[in-house]
Amino acid sequence: MDTREGTEAPSGLVDVVVPIAVRHPFTYRLPSALRGDTSTLRGRRVLVPFRTGTVIGYLVGLHSGPFEGETKDVREILDSDPLLGEGEWKIAEWMAAYYVRSLGETLDLFLPSALRGGWKKGSGRRSARASKTPDELRLQPVDIPRELTLEQRAALDRILPYVRGPSFRPVLLHGITGSGKTAVYVELARVAAAEGRGSIVLVPEIGLTSHVARHFLSVFEGRVALLHSRLTPRQRWDEWERIRSGQADIVVGPRSALFAPLARPGLIVVDEEHDGAYKQDDGVTYHGRDVALVIGRERGIPVVLGSATPCLESYAHARSGKYEHIRLARRVGDRPLPEMSVVDMRVHRNPDRALAWLSPQLRVAMEDTLGRGGQVVLFLNRRGFAPVLRCEDCGTGTQCPHCDVAMTFHKVDRLLHCHYCDRRQDPPQVCSKCNGANVALIGAGTQKLEEDLRRLFPASGIARLDTDTAQAKGRRFEILHGLETGALQIAVGTQMITKGHHYPQITLVGVVDADLGLRWPDFRAAERTYQQILQAAGRAGRGEQRGRVIVQTMSPEHHAIRAASAYDEDRFYAQELRFRRQFGYPPYARLALLRIQAADETRGSEAALETARRAGELARRHGVELLGPAPAPLYRLRRFYRWHILLKASGSKDLHALLEELLDARGPRRTGFEVRLDLDPVNML
Ligand code: ADP
Ligand code: ZN
Repeated sequence: MDTREGTEAPSGLVDVVVPIAVRHPFTYRLPSALRGDTSTLRGRRVLVPFRTGTVIGYLVGLHSGPFEGETKDVREILDSDPLLGEGEWKIAEWMAAYYVRSLGETLDLFLPSALRGGWKKGSGRRSARASKTPDELRLQPVDIPRELTLEQRAALDRILPYVRGPSFRPVLLHGITGSGKTAVYVELARVAAAEGRGSIVLVPEIGLTSHVARHFLSVFEGRVALLHSRLTPRQRWDEWERIRSGQADIVVGPRSALFAPLARPGLIVVDEEHDGAYKQDDGVTYHGRDVALVIGRERGIPVVLGSATPCLESYAHARSGKYEHIRLARRVGDRPLPEMSVVDMRVHRNPDRALAWLSPQLRVAMEDTLGRGGQVVLFLNRRGFAPVLRCEDCGTGTQCPHCDVAMTFHKVDRLLHCHYCDRRQDPPQVCSKCNGANVALIGAGTQKLEEDLRRLFPASGIARLDTDTAQAKGRRFEILHGLETGALQIAVGTQMITKGHHYPQITLVGVVDADLGLRWPDFRAAERTYQQILQAAGRAGRGEQRGRVIVQTMSPEHHAIRAASAYDEDRFYAQELRFRRQFGYPPYARLALLRIQAADETRGSEAALETARRAGELARRHGVELLGPAPAPLYRLRRFYRWHILLKASGSKDLHALLEELLDARGPRRTGFEVRLDLDPVNML
């Protein structure tokens, strides 16, 4: 259907998509007063009556073909020119089809909230000034490297042809921590700019304090639009306008920055591409990394994925040649990687409860580091969800034999549950491996650790960085500022503390309990553990002094811990890919997670069973494997009960055929529960 013709349908009917979960357009009548210019209808916003109110929708074009039934009138056309061009429209169509969402919801991603739903036309004027740089970015001036190292230069030279063309090419810039990936991004953006093209630089959510953002700000100054989370809707709109008008052509931000209205993009960078923050769990459940690639292909520009610890999917593509695989194997200035040691906590467990956190090795190293004026970061990966059992003597936990994920303990029935296939079994009385009787729940927190540290190191400045403390406004800034000025000597934190920071005085990093992550009921548990150890290690020894990392674990033989502590990347990826293939997980399978939730437990469990029954029939027909329903690891969340159904397919085609049928089926109207689809899920809790 070509809707770009200037001809007018005799009926004056138009199709409009609205930002709700219904996946087909609605037909309205365009009153003659509004029929002035019907060329390029598509992408213009309209105000339309919908159900009992009015909503802002997007014109698709003239309605073609017959139409029966009543139509309501379009109230108003809000834009004289389409806000969304053909390119954006195509990308949105791809996303809507792939993530099985409505086009209206997907189009909404491309606009600042001020131009969507609740916006009343004519309300307020925009100020066209750049928004203030937040405090976090004023922390320290970055020293911009004057000259690239040979390795950086070689990497740049391999990517430049795609920037100069430009042409679509996915690149995995696989460079160890401290290898200077940022400088490569900056140079690429410079060349793109010289070609008259802008760049989109994605940073994980935490990126506000990342030195990548700082680097771009100091190099490109007024041309940068920084789409950080602290912007008000008004400021966001201002930034959007700055980009749209061409004042800003370097966009730095989280996954949503992908939808910035750059007129001529020339490069997309996804820094720390392995980071889970790029995935949206709700609504249009897109993965920023994957959509970056779709946009790159659509626009014909290179997409650079940077990481020291790429995800298995990207790594596999790089190995197969689908992506350009560029390695940076040395730190800038040939600084050595931190010295890594593994402490076996089965041997070095401290009988004193309060000191059980810290092996003698870690304590001594801390005292030593502090004595020499260095800073210490302790990383503890705590998540408050269903606890796991492990043997206190040998560290063994229980894995589901079918799914290769950790089983978790439930107080209600006192059984171990697999949250993928719902297998349940008695917890072991004695450890299956060492026959020891000390099988206990583990549950540990950064808060407790902080308290203990205050007692042990009363003279040191100590702070904790995790989602609890980061909530407090300005707190994160304070902590990072403390690390920078030296006011803090010890920082304790969750993975928040391992991400992208560059503080040269940190010379010791302790991974307090490396096994916590391994016991998550998540098939990516090993991958995360591997990444977190190396990312945590990446914070150490970025200055003149060599860094040290101490990894405390009860499973020193686990392949993730062995490979991370030996910096043996290829071994880790080879081993992990074997497991993924054996158990049928990405990159060898496509997953879709159906999340069912209900306020009423019985209602929810019935709905989960019924959904699984319907999905099960379709799954058989389409050759897709179905696991569940199983209560979600976070069974109760915000007063809802939650269940999961996991679908595994060898390819996305079968999976989509199934999902289309499942979600389109209009059974009898059911209420009291919700089924949400998460395609390519990352958050398995
Ligand atoms: P990565 O992101 O790969 O961990 P960074 O980009 O943070 O590494 O670089 C690490 C440090 O090295 C930064 O302080 C950066 O300014 C510095 N650096 C990068 N490239 C060079 C260079 N060519 N010469 C000197 N210093 C550099
Ligand atoms: Zn299982």
